[in-house]
Amino acid sequence: MSGLARDPEPAPDRGPDARSTDIPSGRGVPPWIAATQRHCSRCGTTLRFGSIEGEDRERSSCPACGLIAYVNPRLVVTTLPVTDDGRLVLIRRGIEPGLGAWAQPGGFLEVDETVGEAAVRETLEETGLVVRPGEIVGLYTRLEAAVVVLVLEASVVGGTAAPTLEALEIATFDAAAIPWSGLAFKTTHWALVDWLARRHSELDAPEFAGGR
Ligand SMILES: [Zn+2]
Repeated sequence: MSGLARDPEPAPDRGPDARSTDIPSGRGVPPWIAATQRHCSRCGTTLRFGSIEGEDRERSSCPACGLIAYVNPRLVVTTLPVTDDGRLVLIRRGIEPGLGAWAQPGGFLEVDETVGEAAVRETLEETGLVVRPGEIVGLYTRLEAAVVVLVLEASVVGGTAAPTLEALEIATFDAAAIPWSGLAFKTTHWALVDWLARRHSELDAPEFAGGR
C-alpha cells in the first residue's frame, strides 16, 4: 500500500471500525488520491498544498480562487441478505478487487439516494434479489481504500438469484458453513464476525485468513 508503514494491531482507541484497516491514522491524503487532485476543479489553476487559515491540517487549495480541495472517504453500502430459512447470501465476485472470492453485495452510495435505497439497488443489481434492509451490522473504516463500509442485515423478500457481470455465482450458506478462507475483503470478514456474534453466538468465527 504505497509503502506506508503497517500497524497490524491498531490501538484500541481507534474503535472497532478500525479492525479492517492495516495502516495508521493521521497520514493525510493517500498518494493515489492526491495524484488525482492536481488542479482546481472550479478554475483549473494548479493547486498548492500547505496550511490554510482556519483549517486544522494542511490541505490542497487553489491560489487563484481559494477553493479548498477537501478529500473525504466515500461510503460503501452493503447488505448481508438472509433468506426466510436463515441462510446467508454471498456472491463470488466477478470483478476486481477480490475477483473470484466471496463477499456481500454492495457498492458506492450515490449522491441522490438514501442509504436504504442504495442497499436495495446494489443488492438487486448484483444478485437479482429484492431485499428489505434491516439492522446495521457494522461500520468499517478502510483507510487503504478511502472508504467506510456500511453493512446492513437484509431480508430477502423477492427476486430470483442470477449471476451478473459483478457476481459469478450467488450462493446461500448456513451460518456454520461460511466460506471463511475464501473471503474477498477484511470488511466482509469483520461484518460476518459481528453478524455471527449477534445471530449465532453459539458459533465461533475464525481469525482473518486472507484477502484485502
Ligand atoms: Zn480555483
